[in-house]
Amino acid sequence: MPGAEDPGFPAYHASRSGGLAELDLRVSGCRACPRLVAWREEVAEGKRAAFRDWEYWGRPVPGFGPPDATVAVVGLAPAAHDRTGRMFTGDATGDFLFVALHALGLASQPTSVDAGDGLTLRGVRLTSPVHCAPPANRPTPAERDTCRPWLAAELELLSPGLRAVVVLGGFGWQALLPVLADAGWRLPRPRPAFAHGAHVVLPATERRQELHLLGSYHPSQRNTFTGRLTMPMLTEVLREAAGIGGLGT
Ligand code: SF4
Repeated sequence: MPGAEDPGFPAYHASRSGGLAELDLRVSGCRACPRLVAWREEVAEGKRAAFRDWEYWGRPVPGFGPPDATVAVVGLAPAAHDRTGRMFTGDATGDFLFVALHALGLASQPTSVDAGDGLTLRGVRLTSPVHCAPPANRPTPAERDTCRPWLAAELELLSPGLRAVVVLGGFGWQALLPVLADAGWRLPRPRPAFAHGAHVVLPATERRQELHLLGSYHPSQRNTFTGRLTMPMLTEVLREAAGIGGLGT
Protein backbone atom coordinates (compact mmCIF):
# COMPACT_ATOMS: atom_id res chain seq x y z
CA MET A 1 0.00 0.00 0.00
CA PRO A 2 1.59 3.37 -0.99
CA GLY A 3 2.37 5.79 1.84
CA ALA A 4 1.18 9.39 1.90
CA GLU A 5 4.40 10.63 0.26
CA ASP A 6 4.21 8.15 -2.60
CA PRO A 7 2.99 9.55 -5.97
CA GLY A 8 0.70 6.52 -6.17
CA PHE A 9 -1.10 7.43 -2.92
CA PRO A 10 -4.00 9.34 -4.55
CA ALA A 11 -4.65 6.72 -7.22
CA TYR A 12 -4.59 3.88 -4.67
CA HIS A 13 -6.81 5.47 -2.05
CA ALA A 14 -9.21 7.54 -4.14
CA SER A 15 -10.94 4.58 -5.72
CA ARG A 16 -11.10 2.75 -2.39
CA SER A 17 -12.98 5.49 -0.55
CA GLY A 18 -16.52 4.39 0.24
CA GLY A 19 -17.98 7.89 0.63
CA LEU A 20 -17.13 11.57 0.51
CA ALA A 21 -16.28 11.80 4.21
CA GLU A 22 -13.70 9.03 3.84
CA LEU A 23 -12.37 10.54 0.62
CA ASP A 24 -12.02 13.99 2.21
CA LEU A 25 -10.10 12.51 5.12
CA ARG A 26 -7.68 10.77 2.80
CA VAL A 27 -7.18 13.88 0.67
CA SER A 28 -6.33 15.85 3.83
CA GLY A 29 -3.50 13.43 4.61
CA CYS A 30 -1.92 13.39 1.14
CA ARG A 31 1.75 14.36 0.73
CA ALA A 32 2.31 13.00 -2.77
CA CYS A 33 3.72 16.21 -4.34
CA PRO A 34 6.95 17.25 -2.55
CA ARG A 35 7.05 20.78 -4.02
CA LEU A 36 3.46 21.52 -2.96
CA VAL A 37 3.90 19.98 0.49
CA ALA A 38 6.95 22.22 1.06
CA TRP A 39 5.11 25.29 -0.23
CA ARG A 40 1.91 24.80 1.75
CA GLU A 41 3.89 24.27 4.95
CA GLU A 42 6.14 27.25 4.28
CA VAL A 43 3.12 29.54 3.73
CA ALA A 44 1.36 28.19 6.82
CA GLU A 45 4.49 28.80 8.87
CA GLY A 46 5.29 32.26 7.50
CA LYS A 47 1.70 33.62 7.36
CA ARG A 48 0.55 36.89 5.82
CA ALA A 49 0.77 39.81 8.28
CA ALA A 50 -3.02 40.31 8.27
CA PHE A 51 -3.51 36.70 9.41
CA ARG A 52 -0.62 36.54 11.88
CA ASP A 53 -2.84 35.39 14.74
CA TRP A 54 -4.78 32.82 12.74
CA GLU A 55 -4.18 29.10 12.58
CA TYR A 56 -3.46 28.21 8.94
CA TRP A 57 -4.83 25.04 7.39
CA GLY A 58 -1.50 24.11 5.76
CA ARG A 59 -2.77 20.79 4.36
CA PRO A 60 -4.56 19.64 1.21
CA VAL A 61 -8.03 21.15 0.96
CA PRO A 62 -10.79 18.60 0.24
CA GLY A 63 -14.05 19.48 -1.47
CA PHE A 64 -16.65 21.36 0.57
CA GLY A 65 -20.40 20.86 0.39
CA PRO A 66 -23.05 18.19 0.87
CA PRO A 67 -22.72 14.66 -0.58
CA ASP A 68 -26.04 15.01 -2.42
CA ALA A 69 -24.91 18.13 -4.33
CA THR A 70 -26.38 18.42 -7.80
CA VAL A 71 -24.02 21.24 -8.79
CA ALA A 72 -20.22 21.33 -8.49
CA VAL A 73 -18.17 24.52 -8.68
CA VAL A 74 -14.62 23.80 -9.76
CA GLY A 75 -11.58 26.08 -9.77
CA LEU A 76 -7.97 25.03 -10.26
CA ALA A 77 -6.48 24.85 -6.75
CA PRO A 78 -7.17 26.22 -3.25
CA ALA A 79 -5.93 29.56 -1.94
CA ALA A 80 -2.60 29.69 -0.12
CA HIS A 81 -3.75 31.66 2.93
CA ASP A 82 -6.63 29.40 3.88
CA ARG A 83 -7.47 29.19 7.59
CA THR A 84 -10.55 26.98 7.30
CA GLY A 85 -9.77 23.89 5.21
CA ARG A 86 -12.45 24.97 2.73
CA MET A 87 -12.19 25.53 -0.97
CA PHE A 88 -12.24 29.15 -2.22
CA THR A 89 -11.31 30.59 1.16
CA GLY A 90 -8.34 32.75 2.04
CA ASP A 91 -8.35 35.43 -0.63
CA ALA A 92 -10.57 37.79 -2.60
CA THR A 93 -11.85 34.97 -4.82
CA GLY A 94 -13.79 33.39 -1.99
CA ASP A 95 -15.03 36.75 -0.75
CA PHE A 96 -16.66 37.29 -4.16
CA LEU A 97 -17.92 33.74 -4.71
CA PHE A 98 -19.63 33.29 -1.35
CA VAL A 99 -21.54 36.55 -1.79
CA ALA A 100 -22.91 35.19 -5.09
CA LEU A 101 -23.76 31.79 -3.62
CA HIS A 102 -25.51 33.42 -0.67
CA ALA A 103 -27.50 35.75 -2.92
CA LEU A 104 -28.85 32.69 -4.72
CA GLY A 105 -29.73 30.88 -1.48
CA LEU A 106 -26.98 28.31 -2.04
CA ALA A 107 -24.80 29.36 0.95
CA SER A 108 -26.03 30.01 4.47
CA GLN A 109 -23.92 33.18 4.74
CA PRO A 110 -21.95 35.46 2.38
CA THR A 111 -18.54 34.87 3.99
CA SER A 112 -16.17 31.97 4.67
CA VAL A 113 -13.54 33.06 7.14
CA ASP A 114 -13.49 30.85 10.20
CA ALA A 115 -13.79 27.06 10.33
CA GLY A 116 -16.28 27.48 13.17
CA ASP A 117 -18.51 30.05 11.46
CA GLY A 118 -21.25 27.52 10.67
CA LEU A 119 -21.22 28.03 6.90
CA THR A 120 -23.19 25.40 5.00
CA LEU A 121 -23.96 25.00 1.32
CA ARG A 122 -27.23 23.82 -0.24
CA GLY A 123 -26.93 21.46 -3.19
CA VAL A 124 -23.48 22.73 -4.18
CA ARG A 125 -20.05 21.20 -3.75
CA LEU A 126 -16.90 23.30 -4.19
CA THR A 127 -13.81 21.46 -5.34
CA SER A 128 -10.77 21.56 -7.64
CA PRO A 129 -8.49 19.35 -9.75
CA VAL A 130 -5.50 20.19 -7.52
CA HIS A 131 -5.99 20.11 -3.74
CA CYS A 132 -2.86 21.93 -2.54
CA ALA A 133 -2.17 25.63 -3.12
CA PRO A 134 0.69 25.88 -5.64
CA PRO A 135 3.32 28.64 -5.85
CA ALA A 136 2.08 31.42 -8.16
CA ASN A 137 -1.21 29.50 -8.48
CA ARG A 138 0.39 27.22 -11.09
CA PRO A 139 0.67 23.47 -10.48
CA THR A 140 3.02 21.56 -12.75
CA PRO A 141 1.49 19.08 -15.21
CA ALA A 142 2.91 16.24 -13.08
CA GLU A 143 1.29 17.62 -9.91
CA ARG A 144 -2.01 18.07 -11.72
CA ASP A 145 -1.88 14.48 -12.97
CA THR A 146 -0.89 13.07 -9.57
CA CYS A 147 -3.86 14.80 -7.93
CA ARG A 148 -6.37 13.87 -10.63
CA PRO A 149 -7.67 10.63 -9.02
CA TRP A 150 -9.03 12.55 -6.02
CA LEU A 151 -11.40 14.63 -8.14
CA ALA A 152 -12.28 11.71 -10.41
CA ALA A 153 -13.33 9.74 -7.32
CA GLU A 154 -15.24 12.73 -5.91
CA LEU A 155 -17.18 13.10 -9.16
CA GLU A 156 -17.83 9.35 -9.16
CA LEU A 157 -19.31 9.59 -5.65
CA LEU A 158 -21.39 12.65 -6.59
CA SER A 159 -22.43 11.30 -9.98
CA PRO A 160 -25.84 9.81 -9.11
CA GLY A 161 -27.21 13.30 -8.44
CA LEU A 162 -24.74 15.57 -10.21
CA ARG A 163 -26.32 17.58 -13.04
CA ALA A 164 -24.07 20.59 -13.62
CA VAL A 165 -20.47 21.69 -13.15
CA VAL A 166 -19.51 25.37 -13.15
CA VAL A 167 -15.85 25.82 -14.02
CA LEU A 168 -14.15 29.01 -12.87
CA GLY A 169 -11.46 30.00 -15.34
CA GLY A 170 -9.66 28.51 -18.31
CA PHE A 171 -6.96 26.73 -16.30
CA GLY A 172 -9.60 24.92 -14.26
CA TRP A 173 -11.45 24.06 -17.48
CA GLN A 174 -8.34 22.55 -19.08
CA ALA A 175 -7.57 20.56 -15.95
CA LEU A 176 -11.14 19.33 -15.49
CA LEU A 177 -11.76 17.87 -18.94
CA PRO A 178 -9.41 14.87 -18.51
CA VAL A 179 -10.85 14.27 -15.04
CA LEU A 180 -14.34 14.07 -16.51
CA ALA A 181 -13.08 11.61 -19.13
CA ASP A 182 -11.43 9.52 -16.39
CA ALA A 183 -14.67 9.60 -14.41
CA GLY A 184 -16.64 8.15 -17.33
CA TRP A 185 -18.18 11.05 -19.26
CA ARG A 186 -17.77 11.23 -23.05
CA LEU A 187 -16.21 14.49 -24.21
CA PRO A 188 -16.88 15.95 -27.65
CA ARG A 189 -14.04 16.19 -30.17
CA PRO A 190 -12.52 18.65 -30.61
CA ARG A 191 -12.52 19.33 -26.89
CA PRO A 192 -14.84 22.25 -26.02
CA ALA A 193 -13.04 25.57 -25.52
CA PHE A 194 -13.36 27.64 -22.37
CA ALA A 195 -15.30 30.90 -22.49
CA HIS A 196 -17.34 32.89 -20.03
CA GLY A 197 -20.86 31.68 -20.69
CA ALA A 198 -19.72 28.46 -22.37
CA HIS A 199 -22.35 25.74 -21.96
CA VAL A 200 -21.59 22.20 -23.08
CA VAL A 201 -23.85 19.21 -22.51
CA LEU A 202 -22.06 15.91 -22.01
CA PRO A 203 -24.47 13.18 -23.09
CA ALA A 204 -25.62 10.35 -20.86
CA THR A 205 -23.64 7.13 -21.18
CA GLU A 206 -24.15 3.63 -19.80
CA ARG A 207 -22.36 4.75 -16.63
CA ARG A 208 -23.24 8.44 -16.40
CA GLN A 209 -26.22 10.76 -16.51
CA GLU A 210 -26.21 13.84 -18.74
CA LEU A 211 -23.96 16.55 -17.33
CA HIS A 212 -23.98 20.29 -18.10
CA LEU A 213 -20.61 22.02 -18.14
CA LEU A 214 -20.74 25.81 -17.69
CA GLY A 215 -17.82 28.24 -17.88
CA SER A 216 -17.30 31.47 -15.95
CA TYR A 217 -14.35 33.79 -15.71
CA HIS A 218 -12.47 33.10 -12.49
CA PRO A 219 -13.51 35.46 -9.65
CA SER A 220 -9.88 36.37 -8.98
CA GLN A 221 -9.11 39.80 -7.63
CA ARG A 222 -7.64 40.76 -10.99
CA ASN A 223 -10.84 39.85 -12.85
CA THR A 224 -13.26 41.36 -10.37
CA PHE A 225 -11.32 44.58 -9.76
CA THR A 226 -11.00 45.25 -13.47
CA GLY A 227 -14.67 44.48 -14.11
CA ARG A 228 -13.88 41.57 -16.42
CA LEU A 229 -16.13 39.54 -14.15
CA THR A 230 -18.96 41.36 -12.39
CA MET A 231 -21.26 40.01 -9.70
CA PRO A 232 -24.25 39.84 -12.11
CA MET A 233 -22.12 37.89 -14.62
CA LEU A 234 -21.11 35.28 -12.01
CA THR A 235 -24.59 35.13 -10.50
CA GLU A 236 -26.14 34.51 -13.91
CA VAL A 237 -23.92 31.46 -14.56
CA LEU A 238 -24.50 30.07 -11.05
CA ARG A 239 -28.26 30.64 -11.37
CA GLU A 240 -28.33 28.72 -14.64
CA ALA A 241 -26.45 25.82 -13.04
CA ALA A 242 -28.71 25.88 -9.99
CA GLY A 243 -31.75 25.69 -12.27
CA ILE A 244 -30.30 22.65 -14.06
CA GLY A 245 -29.54 21.12 -10.67
CA GLY A 246 -33.11 21.61 -9.45
CA LEU A 247 -32.04 24.05 -6.77
CA GLY A 248 -34.72 26.55 -7.77
CA THR A 249 -33.30 30.01 -7.08
S1 SF4 B 1 -1.75 18.37 -4.89
FE1 SF4 B 1 -3.07 16.59 -4.60
S2 SF4 B 1 -1.75 14.81 -4.98
FE2 SF4 B 1 -0.39 16.57 -4.60
S3 SF4 B 1 0.01 16.53 -2.37
FE3 SF4 B 1 -1.74 17.87 -2.68
S4 SF4 B 1 -3.53 16.53 -2.42
FE4 SF4 B 1 -1.76 15.21 -2.75
